[in-house]
Amino acid sequence: MSKHKYNKYGPQVTISAKEGLTLEVLALAEKAGAKAGYSTAKEHLYRSIASGSLLNEQQTDELLAAAERAGAAAALAAARKVLDKTLRTSFRPGTYAPPPSSAAPAVPVAAQPSQETRPYSETYEEPLARYMPPISHAEAPRRKVDQHVLTVTRVQKLSEQMVRIIASAPNLDGYRSNGALDEYVKVYVADPALGLVPPYDTRQLRQRLSREQMPRSKSYTIRWVDPVADELAIDFVVHGEPGTVGHWAGTVEPGAALVISPARSKNSVRLDAGYHVLAADEAGIPAISKILEALPEQAQGIALLEVADEQAMFDVKHPQGIELRWLYRDGVPAGRSDVLAYAFQTVTVPNHGLSVVAHAERSTIKTINRICDYWNLNKHSSHISSYWTLREGRLMR
Ligand SMILES: Cc1cc2nc3c(=O)[nH]c(=O)nc-3n(C[C@H](O)[C@H](O)[C@H](O)COP(=O)(O)OP(=O)(O)OC[C@H]3O[C@@H](n4cnc5c(N)ncnc54)[C@H](O)[C@@H]3O)c2cc1C
Repeated sequence: MSKHKYNKYGPQVTISAKEGLTLEVLALAEKAGAKAGYSTAKEHLYRSIASGSLLNEQQTDELLAAAERAGAAAALAAARKVLDKTLRTSFRPGTYAPPPSSAAPAVPVAAQPSQETRPYSETYEEPLARYMPPISHAEAPRRKVDQHVLTVTRVQKLSEQMVRIIASAPNLDGYRSNGALDEYVKVYVADPALGLVPPYDTRQLRQRLSREQMPRSKSYTIRWVDPVADELAIDFVVHGEPGTVGHWAGTVEPGAALVISPARSKNSVRLDAGYHVLAADEAGIPAISKILEALPEQAQGIALLEVADEQAMFDVKHPQGIELRWLYRDGVPAGRSDVLAYAFQTVTVPNHGLSVVAHAERSTIKTINRICDYWNLNKHSSHISSYWTLREGRLMR
């Protein structure tokens, strides 16, 4: 019997070619199922986001991970069924000699077969039954920890509410920019009292930490990446407690770790539109600033930027044809002001060639969405999404 090494789901075992094929088929089914589960869930989520997202970032991630696992498990179950049927019908009656003890699988086996030759009737289940424990791992596929750990080198105060954190690492600890204008990452922050060392293996930590103790991760726009200097920058709104990441950003000092996910992006922004309406509160200003810097010099439009007050303005480069209008909450807390939605409503827009990008608190984005519906805006050329949700005195998961 020809032997193959196989270690996909656990310790390496020596198996027959037929068993190897069985396991390969199962592995492929699992991978395809996970992909299908993930993309179906993602598609539905995008639709729900377009109509005003109901889930926060953490919940979205958990849902996608669950869909991925469910897809993998369903595909595995289906593949096992098909393989079981195929093996039952296509094996010729005969005998099965189990491998010699030196080649016995290193994985736990419920009841080791005797060394005697057994009748065919027992053999067709063998590849599936014997590797059941490692295959069942597929319901929670092992992954490498996908985080990059950098060191904060500088902290620049942009205003009372915003800081720019610049961090670096040799080769950016493997972080690769995706080049997208809306490139963003998850920033992970753990409770220092727990003494966790990054990168955080969240799957493992979940087994021993309570939900409240788990490192939190929130989305942040990558402001710029300098691969030559091995540096990147993120602009954080510092909004005090109880916000985890925002609070961390207000206290962080050079030497601290900045833990980020690989680069992500959602939409490609149209830079060639006839007229641009850009709108954001502080959380969306980094993303809008990147667009303003990338727009061609002849671009036309308006950028509405909501900040706390006049002192909170800072330098934002923009083409001459884009009017920059700062809006002040003047004492109204962030997330409670209607200054941005009101200004948005009063903008005069052309019938054609309009592009809208808006990122702000959820209720403001809902209003902006309604105004865009009234304008009959073509949403394909626009990017309107909620960046955070006001929750009184509560942390968001
Ligand atoms: C794609 C994307 C990119 C983003 N980019 C940036 C970015 O570059 N910079 C940035 O600062 N934010 C950005 N955000 C928003 C950021 O992810 C949220 O503000 C996040 O909730 C902050 O997490 P936290 O742990 O500080 O607070 P949470 O634990 O999430 O919230 C705690 C409380 O703080 C309050 N809060 C949360 N966010 C804000 C805020 N921005 N202003 C005032 N109060 C707030 C809420 O009332 C909340 O109940 C982005 C979001 C997305 C989806």
